[in-house]
This record gives sequence, C-alpha cells and structure tokens, in this order.
Amino acid sequence: MEYEPVIGLEVHVQLKTNTKMFTRAPYHYGAEPNTLTDPVVLGMPGTLPVMNRKAIEMTIQAGLLLGCKIPETCKWDRKNYFYPDMPKNYQISQFDQPICDGGEVEIEMLGPSRNVMGEHRNVKLTRIHLEEDVGKLTHFDSESLVDYNRAGTPLIEIVSEPDLYSPEEAFAYLTALRNCLVAAGISECDMEKGQMRCDANVSIRPKGTTELGTKVEIKNLNTISGVRNGIAYEIQRQTLAMENNQPIVQETRRWNADEGYTTSMRSKEMAHDYRYFPDPDLMPVKVSQDWLEQLAEDLPELPFDMQRRYMRDYDLPYTITSVLCPDAKLAAYFENALAVYEKPKQIANFITNDLLRELSAAGENGSLPLDQCKVRPEHVAELVQLIDKGDISSHIAKEVFPEMFSTGKGPSQIVDEKGLKQSTDTGELEATCQEIINNNPKPVAEYKAGKEPAINALKGQVMKMTRGKANPKIVDEILRKLLA
Ligand code: ADP
Ligand code: MG
Repeated sequence: MEYEPVIGLEVHVQLKTNTKMFTRAPYHYGAEPNTLTDPVVLGMPGTLPVMNRKAIEMTIQAGLLLGCKIPETCKWDRKNYFYPDMPKNYQISQFDQPICDGGEVEIEMLGPSRNVMGEHRNVKLTRIHLEEDVGKLTHFDSESLVDYNRAGTPLIEIVSEPDLYSPEEAFAYLTALRNCLVAAGISECDMEKGQMRCDANVSIRPKGTTELGTKVEIKNLNTISGVRNGIAYEIQRQTLAMENNQPIVQETRRWNADEGYTTSMRSKEMAHDYRYFPDPDLMPVKVSQDWLEQLAEDLPELPFDMQRRYMRDYDLPYTITSVLCPDAKLAAYFENALAVYEKPKQIANFITNDLLRELSAAGENGSLPLDQCKVRPEHVAELVQLIDKGDISSHIAKEVFPEMFSTGKGPSQIVDEKGLKQSTDTGELEATCQEIINNNPKPVAEYKAGKEPAINALKGQVMKMTRGKANPKIVDEILRKLLA
C-alpha cells in the first residue's frame, strides 16, 4: 500500500506594531527581561484592556492581501489556562468569530533548474485571527525564569486547511507567506527572533483516498528548513507505523532539530480544555466598508504578481526576478534605481550580482542588511548611465562598484578622482593603435590575410595599454580603419 501525506500549518506571526495589543506598553526585540511591562500586561486587578487599532488594521490588511473574507463583526474570547507564561491566567484570542475567513497563499514549487519557473498553486486558508502573545519561560534543572516582555504583544495566527501534500510544499508555503507579510510591512517574520512560529499537523492516508487520517501536531519547529525536516521525519514515522499495523495516535510531538526526530509531548486525552468564552471587557469589532476600502488602498503588490510583471514588462529573466521579487526591500531598491534611469536589465544585473555579492561579503553573520548599504539606488542608475554614455566600459564599472560600496561615493566622483574616464580622444587613441599595429606584425598579417579574429589580439593590446579606459567600440573602428 502506498501512502500520501496531508499537512496543515498553524503559523503565528508577530505584528510590527510599536505597542502591545491591549495596552500602550512598548514592544521591541532584545530588551532586558521584564522591562516592557505595565499593570495591564501583568494582569493586575482593576486594569482593563484597550484595543490597538493599528494591530487590527494590520490583520485586516493581511487578510485582504491573502484574499480572505473580512466579516462585518469579529469578537474577542478568553482562552483560559493556568501557566506562568500569562499572568492573567487567560489569553485574549478569537474563537468563533475571527477577523479573517478563508483566503489562500500562492506557492511555487521549485522547477527542474534555477533558470525555469516552477509550478504555482494556491493553498487554501481556514482563517486568520488576532490574539495577544504570552511571556517566555526558560527552564533550568530546578527553577524556571519568566520574561513578560513578549506577553501581550499582537500576534496573528494563520491557519491553513489540510491542503499541503509534501514537506517541500510546506517549505514553499512558509516562504511565500513570509514574503507577502514582509512586503506589506506587517511583520519581519524572522523565525530566529520568534517573529514567525509554526506548528505542523501531519497525517497520512492511502494514496487515492480522500478521508483524512489521524493527525499528529509537531511543535518546536524553529526554522523553515526545520519545518520541512520535521514533517519529512513524521511522514516516515507514520508510514512505518501503518506498515507495521500499529495505530497512529493523535498527539502532540516535539521536533528535536539536533537529533532529527520527534518525541511525544502529550496525547489527545491530555489536550487542554480552554473553556473559551467571550471577553466581557471588550466589545466586538465592527468593520465598515469604508474602513476596508481605506486599508485596501495601502496594500503592496504580491511578490509573485510583481515577478510576473517584471518578466512581462521589463523582459527580465526568471532567475533575476526570483532574486529580486521575494525580497520587498530589494525590489523597492530596484524600482528606485529604475525611476532615475530606465534600463531594467542593466540595473537588475548590478543589483543581483554586484550589490548582493558585496553585501554578503560585508556581513558578519550572513549578509549586511540592505538598509545599511552605502550604495544608493540612484548611484546604481548613474553607473549604468556612465556606461551607456561611453564614459566608462562595463569592465571599468565592475571595478568602480566595490569602491562605491566601501566609500559611499557616487560613481561619477570615483571615475573623476581615479581618472577612469574612457578616452574618447581619438587622436591619442589612433596613435596608440598605430603603435600596437607596428609592434605586432603577426596578427596584423593574419588579419590582412583574411583571418578576421586576429583583430581581437590587437584590441586586447590596446585595452591593456590604456588600462581598460579606451572605448572598445571606438578601438575596433580605429584598428579597422588603420588596417584597411
Ligand atoms: P484542532 O482542533 O486540533 O486544533 P483543527 O481542526 O483546528 O484541529 O486544525 C488545526 C490544523 O490542523 C489546521 O491547520 C488543519 O488544516 C490541520 N489539520 C486538521 N486535520 C488534519 C489532518 N487530518 N491531517 C493534517 N492536518 C490536519
Ligand atoms: Mg484548532
């Protein structure tokens, strides 16, 4: 019997707001423990929650971006549990009336090679709801520490339908989802900072059947490749169990990334009963048509739509657009350069080759972030302009770029300071060409005997003598004229 996996993902994403979900306490990553709290966060008696309008707007925008339906009303519920990560002993969440219903995420499965676009498909969403995050516990042998900085920060949960069918699809889904949310400024989605977290639900079923099998939920998936590996392991484990006629137990399992296996955390019988009920301190939220329209005006183009547009309108190859478009900041950089000088191919080449190479060489752990880069988009445009005007060759431009990167100077300034401008003084160039012709009788004779490529040897000599500053086209013309 052959089995096929079915996967549904529950993804938590921290919203990029300045303050918390139900209070003005600030939030930012990396602060000293327990410095970002206030009486509301700490659940002091007598405090009352006040909704963060911005967080609700960002959630609606996430929904609009992913094609969700936004019901006219949503409401808040208390999810009750007793655990020190939440001092109130309940978490404010949304149970049966979330902000967003349905929706979908377009994914791309990698094609046969990096040069070919892969297959695209839309993965169905169940819902997106908004809630407050909880604190962070760190356990030691005989004690635990708690940090309430994260407690009360706005968190959205994006729940997919069981509509993913391989670990690779789950990987593609998370990547695509992250790219969309980052592009909209909703979150940075950095999994290492806990800004994006994912639980994976995995089941298997006999190939060709439609009924869902018993699902196992995997937790502690801390990287996108961890999600892929954890799911792959779980599929293998379940398949083996089925083949040995062992029942699959509905349970929560923990992924151990270092060792590469999952272990049982709790079974269905141990599942919590959260006793959800509507929060009496908070009114339901009414979403007007006007509000929706206003929020819709502020949405970015989806990365895959942008990629199709770049290929169609700018005639850029798939490989280049698949580097530019998933990265909203890089794409914006490209468009800013393009606004100065409309040569998409040349500009995109400098960005995806030279700029990315310099960024990755300059970073200490990974690449230097683009917003710390000294080369401004208009400088890239100017560099391409210098080539087009014949001021420098593309060979020289490749040397100018690292200089732009390390100094932050504009390309014209560097070209002037270093005297790199191509000589267009044809008199001087003619003299040089004549000298090369006099000193290289062999290629000259070959060329004259009809061996066309022999002229390249002469050209090379001229370029060398002028240290690359001569315009190759002009050199070609002069040599042919002198040899005619
Ligand atoms: P629970 O009630 O245990 O939270 P839900 O029905 O809310 O389960 O689903 C939670 C997640 O699990 C969703 O992303 C959903 O797509 C996924 N899921 C549900 N059933 C299955 C299944 N049989 N196999 C794989 N994923 C599933
Ligand atoms: Mg559920």
